Amino acid sequence: MSKPVVAIVGRANVGKSTLFNKLIRKRVAITQDDPGVTRDRLYQEAEWNNKYFTLVDTGGLEPNNEDGPISQNIRKQTELAIETSDVILFLVDGRQGLNPIDQEVASILKRSHKDVILVVNKIDDIKYKNEIYDFYELGFYDICPISAENSLGLGDLLDEVVKRFPDDYDTDEESELSKVCLIGKPNVGKSSLINHLLGEDRMIVTDIAGTTRDSIDNVVSYKDKEYLFIDTAGLRRKSKVVEDVERYSVVRTLSAIDRSDICVLMIDATEGVSEQDTKILGYAHDQGKAMIIAVNKWDLVEKDTNTMQKYVSSIKNKLSFAQYVPIVFISVKDNKRIDKLFDAMELVDNNYSMRISTGVLNDIISRAVLLNPPPSDKGVRLKILYGTQIEVRPAKFMIVINKKELMHFSYQRYLENQIRENFGFEGVPIFFEYKTRGK
Ligand code: GDP
Ligand code: GDP
Repeated sequence: MSKPVVAIVGRANVGKSTLFNKLIRKRVAITQDDPGVTRDRLYQEAEWNNKYFTLVDTGGLEPNNEDGPISQNIRKQTELAIETSDVILFLVDGRQGLNPIDQEVASILKRSHKDVILVVNKIDDIKYKNEIYDFYELGFYDICPISAENSLGLGDLLDEVVKRFPDDYDTDEESELSKVCLIGKPNVGKSSLINHLLGEDRMIVTDIAGTTRDSIDNVVSYKDKEYLFIDTAGLRRKSKVVEDVERYSVVRTLSAIDRSDICVLMIDATEGVSEQDTKILGYAHDQGKAMIIAVNKWDLVEKDTNTMQKYVSSIKNKLSFAQYVPIVFISVKDNKRIDKLFDAMELVDNNYSMRISTGVLNDIISRAVLLNPPPSDKGVRLKILYGTQIEVRPAKFMIVINKKELMHFSYQRYLENQIRENFGFEGVPIFFEYKTRGK
């Protein structure tokens, strides 16, 4: 499920956002609902020749002061790109020529050993073609001249990009393990949990962010099952890194969700669900991830027999789309109920792979239809001919019906509930696709 991530870096005004918008244009039109966190389009899905990837415009992170020696911002931007992406597009301005900031960015990128393509922008005209040779000095030999504004050279650039994706992005060695990401606002206890699980003696030694993925991901075993906790470096390094720009953590979070199978949203029991939590979990839902909500710091809450039940209701009220997501209550500080979190991980991981046989599914569908007949419109009634599960991780059902317009959201919700009631699917989203067949 995990998609390659491609980042665009470079100093201000070289054309990063112009390029970003060109590369995603086709996809934006069909991305219906923006989970809010991506409102500035820092982070978008893109596609070339049926290869899907996620494009990050780290430039959207920079405030406007880029004068003088390399600013903190561009350094952070570059490090973020190294940490979160598989291929980096290093953009320079072919009209202005080589700039000292370009050289500094180049030296940070070199140390990362990441796949970097040097993209010389603003080559609008053949007469600028020779300008690109100056840039060989930066030491990158994969150079693509483009004009973002005029859409020149973008196809060749995209060919170069997708060439660098692994053929079997999903079946690399780590794919045997379910990947887990811990998400949530600052101070809810994510780092504490990671440190607790990994033990202080296993401190990460590299301090260059994300030199390789392995150095930021960690395997945790629990009851004979192993999970790969991803992007743990950011959490473990935390004391040294001041996360001053909130959007950095948003990009990081979305990238972690994309790469993972199971997303654990951590909430501070004394604070409850925030707006940001809703958006982030909504994103995980849309991306088809397995999900768990972990309410941490349960030690701080005064409890009677109903407290937990009330807390569950209040979360479900706020996160109405996520009724099916299991909620666990933990205290990392007191080492309480962490086993419940792992039980939930095992449960949702199994549900994530669950496949329902077509026979049983159609039994359920027929019964559901009898119990609550489908809607009709202008004398035509929705007919459900049959259904079959076409995908796992996440579950996707194809339902064959007589007329697509007759399938309303409320009836889909009803079918979903019937399927959930009969098969569980706790913690995992379910998707539907409809096909029509005449009489
Ligand atoms: P960013 O700061 O790196 O995101 O750069 P922008 O995308 O905002 O572009 C900076 C300026 O360069 C804008 O005025 C763009 O119109 C211009 N620009 C971008 N691409 C091209 C190009 O291919 N050719 C020319 N001539 N100008 C471009
Ligand atoms: P992060 O920003 O989400 O990584 O949060 P941290 O792990 O840095 O935790 C923030 C603060 O909450 C620290 O002071 C922790 O000691 C504290 N904390 C973490 N877990 C618990 C818990 O279960 N109970 C209590 N009372 N405090 C906790």
